[in-house]
Amino acid sequence: MTAQIIDGKAFAETVREKVAAHVARLKEVHNITPGLAVVLVGEDPASQVYVRNKGKQTVECGMNSYEHKLSADTSEADLLALIEQLNADPAVHGILVQLPLPDHLDSDLVINSIDPAKDVDGFHISNVGLLGTGQKSMVPCTPLGCLMMLRDQLGSLSGLNAVVVGRSNIVGKPMAQLLLRDSCTVTIAHSRTKDIEEVCRRADILVAAVGRPEMIKGSWVKPGATVIDVGINRVEAPEKGLREDGTVKTKLVGDVEFDTAVEVAGAITPVPGGVGPMTIACLLANTVTAACRAHELPEPDGLTA
Ligand code: NAP
Repeated sequence: MTAQIIDGKAFAETVREKVAAHVARLKEVHNITPGLAVVLVGEDPASQVYVRNKGKQTVECGMNSYEHKLSADTSEADLLALIEQLNADPAVHGILVQLPLPDHLDSDLVINSIDPAKDVDGFHISNVGLLGTGQKSMVPCTPLGCLMMLRDQLGSLSGLNAVVVGRSNIVGKPMAQLLLRDSCTVTIAHSRTKDIEEVCRRADILVAAVGRPEMIKGSWVKPGATVIDVGINRVEAPEKGLREDGTVKTKLVGDVEFDTAVEVAGAITPVPGGVGPMTIACLLANTVTAACRAHELPEPDGLTA
């Protein structure tokens, strides 16, 4: 069997189109333009790229983007003061603080100072609790994107065995909560799980969020399973040759060994081009959802969990 490839890039495009259409309606009918504020502390190159992309896509969907770039030595008091100001600003419907923060800043304290209604990353302790108790919340973007792709691929997820490998607060745990909410039988595997290969082989839905290049082999996959690979790992690619400075070129791979898994799975997300593009699309979706909730308007269909 060769698995169907789930095209996250194309799916993300349809999500962005839905977001843009809803933004246009909000403007036309209600004179509301959703706004997303992104706060970046320091000069981490990867974070700078993420923030640039988020700002660009926000504007392309017709929303307002407010970028706040602060120096690496910004004090916690100054950062908290900025968040307080954004919390109070009616033009800002979503606030995202780019992680990781420099070591001298307490990430939990900072994230929990965001108004939960504007917490478009879904990391605030209130949103974590609401999700865990099945109430309306802001849902973390990466697991939301995975859920959207799974629902699109499989329709109802009810009764399926789902295995999530990884138990981080930003991917594994919220992913498991979302699958449970859709009535899957959920197992969370992690670094201490015994017989992890056997656990994975029971999965109708296998979500890999580990951060270990190609750890999950095709032999771990149940024939016909749907495999969602969240991992983004940069590894050396000697087959691509050398850079001008003599170092080996690199490539991105997932947590799943794609070439073997694709022969066994029913459907699989590639890396790159799978989960990655969905994450920013879901951030935009969450911003529209937050704007609708702030104005007590109906939320767009298919953009929330
Ligand atoms: P993380 O915080 O480092 O968590 C990794 C999890 O994997 C932990 O729960 C850890 O278990 C588990 N793990 C590590 N080694 C393992 C092993 N040998 N066997 C079983 N489980 C193992 O990572 P994360 O933030 O969740 O990210 C996971 C991956 O997703 C990374 O590659 C990251 O780059 C990627 N990611 C992608 C997106 C996207 O937009 N596509 C977004 C976020 C993250 P313990 O808890 O027992 O240590």
